[in-house]
Amino acid sequence: PYDVLVVGGGPAGASAAIYAARKGIRTGIVAERFGGQVLDTLSIENFISVKATEGPKLALALEEHVKEYNIDVMNLQRAKGLKKGDLFELELENGATLKSKSVIISTGARWRNVNVPGEQELKNKGVAYCPHCDGPLFAGKDVAVIGGGNSGAEAAIDLAGIVNHVTVLEYSSEMKADQVLQNRLYSLPNVTVVKNAVTKEITGTENVTGITYTDRETGEEHHVALQGVFVQIGLVPNTEWLDGTLERNRIGEIITDKRGSTNIPGVFAAGDCTDSAYNQIIISMGSGATASLSAFDYLIRTPEL
Ligand code: FAD
Repeated sequence: PYDVLVVGGGPAGASAAIYAARKGIRTGIVAERFGGQVLDTLSIENFISVKATEGPKLALALEEHVKEYNIDVMNLQRAKGLKKGDLFELELENGATLKSKSVIISTGARWRNVNVPGEQELKNKGVAYCPHCDGPLFAGKDVAVIGGGNSGAEAAIDLAGIVNHVTVLEYSSEMKADQVLQNRLYSLPNVTVVKNAVTKEITGTENVTGITYTDRETGEEHHVALQGVFVQIGLVPNTEWLDGTLERNRIGEIITDKRGSTNIPGVFAAGDCTDSAYNQIIISMGSGATASLSAFDYLIRTPEL
């Protein structure tokens, strides 16, 4: 069996695996797609100490760093269930079962898509999901934020300080964001909030040129010319496969404490699949290291293993 088995090969998983291997213990990492969300990122400018890089480049660097160590890398393998016997048993979709004394879950998350024409085609060409990451790329330009919940309102407030103008498109007749955020939003001179707006299409060929929406009340179609669209309708943790196993919050994030422990002793979690306050590469790597050190601590304190 493994001493530490990491599930997920993004920044959190890579960091957890390296920290475990450096303790000289038997370490494995299973990843559906090594690199995770980083693979889908164009430019990264907030990974401190690296002024600028590209997602695929950082993903490759993660993999190369992991391969420097004696770590079993099982890429292109999807976990479908976790059981506790004498040891933990991780079931893979390919039918195999892996056994381990401790498990670190770092299966990340995915942005909820609006699923309108133009979204997939213009990803990284004006369609963005992370204002902390990509906001500065739109300095002085006009952008839309789809979604008027807390993340949409926060994104719009954040972007309003960088871009020329922000149009917020909210599907309902009222924004769902906290009142204090709405007050802040409405106080900003360069933000327009459109309610009852159903996004129809993100337009553009090379780059985003605008957004089309219909007014749910009048049925009228409108087009706004702009250069960027931030989709802010939720981040979904990749934890469905843990249904009924681990304690998770209302939106499916694994509940962890400051050590990365879950409600099951010996199972730890890190990165975007947890209830961490913010989701960023640097934060995921830090939490992966924390979870791994906690797993090591668990192993040395559980002599019967
Ligand atoms: P992820 O990166 O999501 O990795 C999850 C891993 O788990 C993947 O390997 C995945 O294949 C695997 N996995 C999932 N389910 C299973 C399963 N059932 N079995 C096995 N493996 C599974 N952050 C920044 O700091 N700076 C940026 O500039 C930036 N830009 C971004 C741009 C975009 C377009 C996106 C989508 C995100 C961006 N982020 C950025 C956020 C950052 O990428 C994430 O916070 C970070 O990747 C989270 O790391 P993670 O390891 O927790 O999860």
